[in-house]
Amino acid sequence: MSILAGKLWLLCFSTMMLAPMFYNIVKTEGRTFGIHSIAIISVFWTMFFRLMVVAASYFNFNTLIMFVLLLLWQLCILFATVAVFYLILNELKEKFMRYANTNDWRYLFPAVFEAVILIFFNCSGIIFPDADEELISQGASFSLYFVVNFYVIVGAWLCYKSYLYNLDFDIKYLARKHFLYFMVLCVALFLQQVVFKEVEVGFSLAVFLFFNYMTRSRTLISQDPLSGVNNRVTFNKFINNVFVSREHADAYIIFIDIDKFKQINDTYGHLEGDEAISLVGKTLKSIAGEYNAFVARIGGDEFVLVVQNCDKEKVLKIIDSISYELDERLIFSDKKYDFTVSCGYVYVEPQDHNIKDLISKADKRMYQEKSRKREEVNAVN
Ligand code: GH3
Ligand code: MG
Repeated sequence: MSILAGKLWLLCFSTMMLAPMFYNIVKTEGRTFGIHSIAIISVFWTMFFRLMVVAASYFNFNTLIMFVLLLLWQLCILFATVAVFYLILNELKEKFMRYANTNDWRYLFPAVFEAVILIFFNCSGIIFPDADEELISQGASFSLYFVVNFYVIVGAWLCYKSYLYNLDFDIKYLARKHFLYFMVLCVALFLQQVVFKEVEVGFSLAVFLFFNYMTRSRTLISQDPLSGVNNRVTFNKFINNVFVSREHADAYIIFIDIDKFKQINDTYGHLEGDEAISLVGKTLKSIAGEYNAFVARIGGDEFVLVVQNCDKEKVLKIIDSISYELDERLIFSDKKYDFTVSCGYVYVEPQDHNIKDLISKADKRMYQEKSRKREEVNAVN
């Protein structure tokens, strides 16, 4: 009885975790059957059929019902594992379409093959009542866990590959998190298989989905969706945590504003303007990754970079590389227009806590730089 109660408790506990996630995802995505919600639903059914299988053996249901429930449970495990795998694949891809792979359907082959094997094993138990039940169930669960582990390991490998080879800071962070969760899932499944001899794939996947959801929500709250860098709220938090409330190392704050951005909006439209902002975001993110800096978008076309433990030479190098990399990206993205940015920087001493004043100083210097450029252009004309 205690095993049955345990499974019921796991189902209730997971439902408590999964239901609010499901509600929020359906609300934000505006559709019921996105890959996230399919993964959640399939994990729920996996746990539900797990409970039914335990209940069937506890109440001594007849063999036929037992086999049907067992088959449904195993198919649900398979479906849920594949759904979680595709969810991660999707998250890695949606961040960076450059790595879009149109052959994703090939990952379905092992699952389809395994589904056929499961149906075969379980039906042979129904068709040949004299067959060795123990052997059939062992064969089915062995092949099933082999395939489950296969998806977990391939998922972890894809995340690790994205982490290694992606220059985009954002996708690197996401891939690292996914890789970590997959490793935890691997260890959990391994311990369940080897030590406890009982595998709760459904519950493990529920926990995995929960962690993944938490990371995703945090990213949504702290990130500016257009440029992909931190938003103003995160910038204020960062400044408070790092500079205002405690001792800190010296740092430089660099203010960046796009020159004559209104002209791009007026000439090419707001959508093109949005693309320009996103391009600057990507450029700054890759530079921030290189120099271990913090980057945020704090206004319409205004960005800020904070670099700690840095000297003036390095700051000038960063400013140069912003213009250089932006030019390169503009060329590679085949844009019809060209634009530049102006930067102003300020030094933060270790004992400085009044960061607001320093930020407005950096802002002023950026405007001085802008005026200087304008005067240069006027002089040439
Ligand atoms: P300056 O050289 O002085 O910086 O000139 P500017 O035209 O860039 O002027 P400013 O920085 O003051 O103007 C920012 C403009 O950015 C104003 C607004 O129309 C536009 N903007 C703000 N947010 C967005 C956005 O999210 N998308 C688009 N497309 N435009 C935006
Ligand atoms: Mg501007």
